[in-house]
Amino acid sequence: FQMKVAWIGLGNMGTPMAANLVAAGHQVTGFDLSEAARDHAAEQNVGVATSAAEAVKDVDVVFTMLPAGKHVKSALADAGGILDHLPAGALVVDSSTIDITTARELHEIVTGRGFPFLDAPVSGGVSGAQAGTLTFMVGGPEENLEKVRPLIEAMAGRIFHTGGPGSGQAAKCANNMMLAVNMAGLAEGAVLAERLGLDPKVFYDLASVSSGESWALRTWYPVAGVVETAAVNRDFEGGFAVNLMRKDLGLALEAGESTDTDLPVATMVSTFLDQMIELGWGGKDTASLVRLVDGTITR
Ligand code: NAD
Repeated sequence: FQMKVAWIGLGNMGTPMAANLVAAGHQVTGFDLSEAARDHAAEQNVGVATSAAEAVKDVDVVFTMLPAGKHVKSALADAGGILDHLPAGALVVDSSTIDITTARELHEIVTGRGFPFLDAPVSGGVSGAQAGTLTFMVGGPEENLEKVRPLIEAMAGRIFHTGGPGSGQAAKCANNMMLAVNMAGLAEGAVLAERLGLDPKVFYDLASVSSGESWALRTWYPVAGVVETAAVNRDFEGGFAVNLMRKDLGLALEAGESTDTDLPVATMVSTFLDQMIELGWGGKDTASLVRLVDGTITR
């Protein structure tokens, strides 16, 4: 059955996710602060509004897909923001990757205003968003999940109910920490293999069925012409920005502190990402870490 949906944040992830809702027959109105993002979404058949207030008028559900916790909180809860314009009974789903503290705070703020809320971050990258195969990690009351399940199914390969408020973000935080570490190791392995004289395709084929295999390897292999979904084929444009991965690692390091967990490997990878950002590579896809390894970027 068809639902009316607002989609706030039409970036690298938001646009293909919203486009999959449209393809599944739902009526979607999106909004982004960036005009270029709105234009791009319109090209993908996503309806666009000129404000978040206009986008959420009459909707059953609003999704947010924004950079970080402060953006989500401000878009929802600022005076004149989404909650001030949302029709009674509408459900709010935040699919951005944000800190657990803000996620829990949003559960309180949003439900305190009378709207059901879920933290529902995703994994699978832009390629997963386009293919509609994302993994959703959903925190909050199960009955809320059941209400939006038909929508999420249009974007997801797998849906996990992770528990109470903030648990989706907790899962995402640990997951992305492992992804960052895998990507850093992959960048080193890919450069080493090439310098040892191995053909990148042959090495990729064997590693992808061997013990060095990972999602990062299969999806983001950082040598051009090996894996179609890899950002290296597009000069590291689009994809998952270094800035966002650094944000996620920061969330993991914070969570490490708050749980008294030593995270030396993740800490080291965060210093690599800091170097990339300092050198102007923050907007490039995270797989561009390979350029730090191959010396294109001097540390
Ligand atoms: P992005 O930077 O491409 O998109 C974010 C969009 O939000 C931008 O277009 C920006 O203009 C817009 N925006 C910011 N504040 C806004 C506001 N107040 N109102 C409306 N629009 C606003 O980022 P992305 O890659 O799409 O990622 C979005 C979220 O998803 C992040 O939290 C990220 O960590 C997470 N994520 C990204 C990936 C990935 O591979 N790119 C994968 C999983 C999760």
